This record gives sequence, C-alpha cells and structure tokens, in this order.
Amino acid sequence: MEYENHSKEELINDITNQKEYENKLALQANILSKVKDAIIVVDYNDIIIYCNESFVKLFGWQEQELIGQNFFDLAHYVILDEELKERNKRAREKIKKAYNEADENKLNQIKCYTKDGNQIIIDVNSSVLRDYKRRCNGFILSIRDVSERYEYQLKQKKNEEKYRYLFNSIDEGFAIIDVIFDENNKPVDFRFIELNAAYENITGIIIKNVIGKTAKELNFAFEDYWYEIYGNVAMTGKPIRFINEEKSLNMWADEYVFKIDAEKGNRVAILFKDITDEVMYNRKLEELIKMQDEIYVNVSHELKTPLNVMYSANQLMDVYLKSNSIKTNKEKLINYNNIIKQNCYRLTKLINNIVDLSKSKSGQLMLNLCNVDIVEVIENIVQSVSEYVKSKELKISFYTNVKAKVIACDSDKIERIMLNLISNAIKFSDPNSEIFVNVLSKEETVEITVKDMGIGIEKQNLDYIFKKFYQEDKSLSRNAEGSGIGLSLVKSLVELHGGNISVESEVNKGSIFKVELPAKTIENQELKEQINSMNNKIETIKIEFSDIYSV
Ligand code: ADP
Repeated sequence: MEYENHSKEELINDITNQKEYENKLALQANILSKVKDAIIVVDYNDIIIYCNESFVKLFGWQEQELIGQNFFDLAHYVILDEELKERNKRAREKIKKAYNEADENKLNQIKCYTKDGNQIIIDVNSSVLRDYKRRCNGFILSIRDVSERYEYQLKQKKNEEKYRYLFNSIDEGFAIIDVIFDENNKPVDFRFIELNAAYENITGIIIKNVIGKTAKELNFAFEDYWYEIYGNVAMTGKPIRFINEEKSLNMWADEYVFKIDAEKGNRVAILFKDITDEVMYNRKLEELIKMQDEIYVNVSHELKTPLNVMYSANQLMDVYLKSNSIKTNKEKLINYNNIIKQNCYRLTKLINNIVDLSKSKSGQLMLNLCNVDIVEVIENIVQSVSEYVKSKELKISFYTNVKAKVIACDSDKIERIMLNLISNAIKFSDPNSEIFVNVLSKEETVEITVKDMGIGIEKQNLDYIFKKFYQEDKSLSRNAEGSGIGLSLVKSLVELHGGNISVESEVNKGSIFKVELPAKTIENQELKEQINSMNNKIETIKIEFSDIYSV
C-alpha cells in the first residue's frame, strides 16, 4: 500500500515533470522558430536536423527539403575572407576533436545562395553541441543576412579607395592635421594625421616619421603665425589661401587651408602646391616687360635722333626752296638732301636690326645655309670696305692661314656680322691706327677675328656689350652715333650658326672680337659661287656704316 501510494505520487510527479518539460520544449521550439535570426542545427557531418521559420524564409527551401541535406553544399557556402577560411577550418577541426576547446565560432561575411540562386552575404555564429561526454555531435548555426551592410561596406571601401587614389595621385601636397589648443584656446601645436605622397616629395617630410606626432614633438621649427593660421581656420571654419616663400625648402608655395571635418573641431587640411616655376616665370615676364618698356624708350629715342636731323634739314631746304634762290643755294640743298639720305640709311639700319633681333629672339630668323668658301666671303668684305676705312685715315689688313675653307653658312648674315664688327672697329679707333681681320682654319672651327687698336672697353663692361642697348658712356667713348643693338644682333646671328662670339679688350690698347663658326658643310651640296659685285654691297655698307660715314 505504502509502495502503491509512493509509486502513485511518484507517477504524478513524473507526469507533471514530463508535462512541464514538454511545455518547456514546446516554448523553446516556438521561441527558436520565431527569432529573427535564421537558425539551423546540423549534426557532426553537417547534415541539417533542424531549421527555424526565419531560415526557411531567408533561404526559400521548405523544412522537408532541408532536413537531411548538407547545408554547406546546398547553399554553396563560401567564406570570402581567405584568412578567416583558414581560421575556421582549424577551429572546426579542434572543436570536433578536442573536448575542452571553445564552443563558439563566429564567422563574418560568408557568401552563399538561396534556393532561387540569389547571392546573399551572411554572418554565422556557430555553437557546438556536445553529448554527456562532451563529445561534439553537432552545431547550432545562427545566421544573419548582412547583404545590405556588406554592399554598403563594399561601396564605402570603393569610395575610400577612390579617395586614397586621389589623395595620393594629386601632385599637390595634401596634409591633414589636428590643431592643438592650450587651456586659453590659443593654438600652440598641431598633430600630423595624414599626408600624401606629393606632400612628402615637396617638403621632404617623411610620412611614416611624422604621422601621429606633433610639430613640437618633432622639433619642427614652425613660426608662431602658422599655429595662428591653422588655429584660426579650425575655430572659424573660414578657409584661407596665400602664397608664401618657404625659405627652408627654397621654394614658393601656394597654400590653401580649410576645415575638413565638422565633427572634429580642430581638424584642418592643407593643400600645398609648389609654384616656384610659376613665380620665377612671372618674375621673368615682369623683367621682360620692363625690358620691353626700356626697348620702346630706347628705340623711340634712337628713331627720333635721325628723324630730327631730317626734319631740320627739310625745314632749311623749305626756306631755300620758298625764297626762289635754288640756283645760288644749290650746294646747300645738295648737302641737306645728303643729310636726309644719310639719316634714311640710319633709320633703315636701326629698323633692320630691331626687326632681325626680335625675329631671332622669337626663333623666326632663318638661315639660308649654303656651302661657301668663308675665306673668300670675308676677304671680299674687307676689300669692299677698304676705301671707307682709308677715308677715315685708318688701315685694314686681311690675313688667313688657309687659301680656302668651305663651310656651311649664310653669307648675307656673315656680311652683317662682319660689317657690324668692322664699323665698331672704325668707330672706336683713332686715325692712323690699323684694323686686322683674320680667318684661321682650326680643327673643328673657323675663327674670324676683328682686331682694332682703338679706345678699348673697360673690363667691367665686357660682360654687357652683347646685351641689347648697351653703350659705354657716350661722353667718354663715342665719336659717332649708334644704337647699342649691333653686338646683340651679331651675337644672335653667330649663335644661329651654332657658333660663339667673345671679346678681349684693354682700355686705350684696343679690342679683339672673335667669332668661332663650326667647320661643317652640308653633304651633297655644291659650292655656292660668291658674286663679288661691288654695287651689290654698296647699299648694304652704306646702311651698316651709316652712323660713321656721311653720304
Ligand atoms: P653701337 O651701335 O652703340 O655701336 P653695339 O652693340 O655695336 O652698339 O656696341 C655696343 C657698345 O660696345 C658700344 O657702344 C661700345 O661702347 C662698345 N664697343 C663695341 N665695339 C667696340 C670696339 N671695337 N671698341 C670699343 N668699344 C666697343
């Protein structure tokens, strides 16, 4: 009886327990089926033995299609991250074998496919199921669809890559800094957050040495105003642009400082561009404009002088012509007419020189190169000016170390060079002295010298005489007119030939101008005969010598 009573009690207890247990299980199954995460239970061989409603919803397979299937095969489960793949393999092996290993394994961003063949990205939390001996006999996988987040992250990554690419490929230096303020809100330092490659190239500041460090920690000698500029931009949010000479870097920089991150109150970006070339170019341009202005002033002065002379002569001629005394004043009229002619030559020379000089500076002056006997060319020029030289009570002599030497040159331009040099030699020589013109054939060059025994050139002026409009003090050295562009043009013409011009001089002893031309010829070209027609040269000589001779 006792036993019966006992067993009845026990039985009731058992039934109650059983009921409670079943209710509990039903509740758990209900909870499991309702949770948002997709949940499956797989056995030791990854065969699905349970799935909840969310899983069915996410993957599209019905429960009966899933039970008994290998989930990993069914969903074409691929772990995208190679490193994670390896780690997971090792973790699963350990979990399966060893008893006391960690029971949780978290895997992120796994690619798999739903029943419809749609790709989804999931995060998986797996927990090991163990039997009473703690042997692994399966896994609970809790799965969350993170496709949207993954897409977003992918986009973010691409944007970040684009930004990185831009950041590193722009040729302007780009730096991001955090300005550091003291307790009184005074900017006292800044920390380097990011720098791009161009910044490193331009400034020489090595990125990896400075990132995360402050200017003061690095002992960078920034003047106080830099902290003020950066601090001001950080505080007011107003960008600032300025051009600054970075003396320590030996460059001019265009800098643009702007606030970059509204949330971080002290974050400032600096765009830094090396504009040294631009500044230098502008300076050169300014110099050029200044020089051009000087040219205008000089040219108009030089043009005015012969023009004034012509105007005066013309006025005097007018008086004689109007007074009906042409016959009695014939000599005077002829003289005035000659003065006009003479000054026409001067103007022609000046204009020719200016035109040719500017043509040569802009690369428009072309050479008509022909194979000619340079000895003959120079000798002809000397011959044709000898009468003029004689009339100034000077002597001119010609010497050469070869009978003939054929080189490729433009004989008209050589004539301009020689007439300029000889006219200077005449201009700056005193009567009864001599002018020597030599042609020396050397190994690779032909050397032409024009030597005089005239007033010479001060040593300190030797560097300047080939510059445009340079003239030594008129009151001291000049006994004739000139414009100061002859030698500049001569230099351009010589250089156009690939040659070189130099001068040696001593005050009161004389000067030697040396022209070196390359001794080259044009292949397969016949020698151009020199037509030594005096008439041909007279006009040219009259023009070139117009500032030393009267007509
Ligand atoms: P210019 O037309 O004034 O002679 P150039 O360019 O030919 O201009 O010469 C520039 C200056 O160089 C001259 O004004 C003169 O001061 C100096 N110079 C040139 N040739 C000689 C020379 N043979 N002897 C002395 N001074 C010279």
